[in-house]
Amino acid sequence: MFLRLAQCNLACSWCDTKYTWDWDNYRYEDEVTTLAMEEVRDAVLAYGCPHLVITGGEPLLQQRELAPLAAALKQSGFFCEVETNGSILPVPELAAHIDQWNVSPKLANSGNPLARRTIPAVLEGFARLPNAFFKFVVVDPEDLAEVCELRDRFNIPPERIILMPEGRSYETLRNRSQWISDACVKEGFRFSTRLHILLWADEARPVTERASI
Ligand code: SF4
Repeated sequence: MFLRLAQCNLACSWCDTKYTWDWDNYRYEDEVTTLAMEEVRDAVLAYGCPHLVITGGEPLLQQRELAPLAAALKQSGFFCEVETNGSILPVPELAAHIDQWNVSPKLANSGNPLARRTIPAVLEGFARLPNAFFKFVVVDPEDLAEVCELRDRFNIPPERIILMPEGRSYETLRNRSQWISDACVKEGFRFSTRLHILLWADEARPVTERASI
């Protein structure tokens, strides 16, 4: 089950969830539902799937509110993952209840300025966590050098690095997947495709899917 939170502290050019933060092009009132922590907890419990992925936007912008939610769900036997852009360090009250961090530091191809997308203390902190995996969104072959530079700078174990092609069509994914998977074999990284694009392409979201706080 995915819990998608509104707002982001970055602005990636290729972001496919701009409806969580781009209020110049989306209406906040249409996209966001404001819920108390207890309401989110009850909705998640009622769904009947004990594996939760908390995503966004950037969910760590609301991490103080997330901590009691994650604590309650762990007590109910949940496996909890967080997807983050790696620019905010998690507080211990939240980290204690998270089983897996999916950290996706942004490269130059995202269009975010370096000072906003790479926060050394945060990436060092995540690299030290044994349950943190690093997923890089790759557009061009030149991006690979940037990934290797970050791997070396922050001592990220290669087996915890995942390369994923950017793309919102089957053709784009297919064109990029071959050379990206070759690079994964060469560097000892993992490869991920984008299964939802392969299955549904860039199909519009159902109207019932809305970002939540
Ligand atoms: S960090 Fe994630 S949610 Fe934020 S703009 Fe980039 S891709 Fe979108």
